[in-house]
Amino acid sequence: AITFDHIRKSYGATQVLRDVSLSIESGEFLTLLGPSGCGKSTLLRILAGLERQDGGSVRIGDRQVDDLRPKRRDVAMVFQSYALYPHMTVAGNMAVPLRMRRLNSWQRLPLIGKLLPGTRPTLAEIDSEVSRTAAALGIDHLLARKPGQLSGGQRQRVAVGRAMVREPAVFLMDEPLSNLDAKLRVQMRAEIKELHKRLGVTFIYVTHDQAEAMTLSDRVAVMLDGELLQVAPPRDIYADPHDRRVAEFIGSPK
Ligand code: ATP
Ligand code: MG
Repeated sequence: AITFDHIRKSYGATQVLRDVSLSIESGEFLTLLGPSGCGKSTLLRILAGLERQDGGSVRIGDRQVDDLRPKRRDVAMVFQSYALYPHMTVAGNMAVPLRMRRLNSWQRLPLIGKLLPGTRPTLAEIDSEVSRTAAALGIDHLLARKPGQLSGGQRQRVAVGRAMVREPAVFLMDEPLSNLDAKLRVQMRAEIKELHKRLGVTFIYVTHDQAEAMTLSDRVAVMLDGELLQVAPPRDIYADPHDRRVAEFIGSPK
């Protein structure tokens, strides 16, 4: 499980997260749903280790990760703003996590101090994994291009692809479909759902799109002004909103 325990965060005088507590089961697909500026990205960035909370703590499994650097947390994040390497091709960008694994799996023998190869992907395996993922996302014809030569939606799919090849224990996706047209968005939704089924790992997904939240999630956490108003399966959020603000945001009758 991933646990947020009484997380607080302010930027200057603005309190962005007010005492957020939330526990997410291993393998669960949980969506943070809420309007722009309510603190969704901030909460994800705290989990990924890119931002430090002012109070409270975060656990991944039974490890308290507050002092762990982002690289050590075994989470892959798809950013709202893609964050691709501009000088690399699409194929190069997507291969980054696999090439890192290739380097990191060299293990130092404790007594001899010698570097020995562990299980590491070969270059051919990296290539075939990148091609397979790119084909699934419909970007295989773009592999030789650089991010500057792509549309926003294409960049977004590359960013999703780069997280997919990593197969981390936890996926964090911050509005990964926001730049896609309606048709592609529905198609990518299915792709993400399939990915979750195939890997069985934990997904924390951020969106302000209700339809997306309702179709993808095991549970939805409705967020407003830095607070979680309700955390429940989609049908309960709709049929039994705990609060008028939830009902108003979801547009259900109450
Ligand atoms: P959106 O749906 O628009 O992406 P969000 O729910 O992800 O919104 P956050 O990015 O978490 O919102 O931001 C929450 C609040 O914190 C906003 O009011 C934002 O202006 C503020 N904020 C975020 N990052 C910073 C920062 N580095 N410095 C100051 N204020 C910030
Ligand atoms: Mg955001």
